[in-house]
Amino acid sequence: MAKAKKSKRDKVIFECTECKNRNYTSTKNKANDPDRMELKKYCPTCKKTTTHKETK
Ligand SMILES: [Zn+2]
Repeated sequence: MAKAKKSKRDKVIFECTECKNRNYTSTKNKANDPDRMELKKYCPTCKKTTTHKETK
């Protein structure tokens, strides 16, 4: 019998820490990454690479 696959991937939004724009979305496995993630990404509003933090 096949096991039902439970999706633990959640959608996450990444927000620029400088201008607070929500520039990036992604998914992550909360079982693997229980903490908030941070990404260095280019922000078109700041016109430079900034830290983007996971938000709800
Ligand atoms: Zn920004």
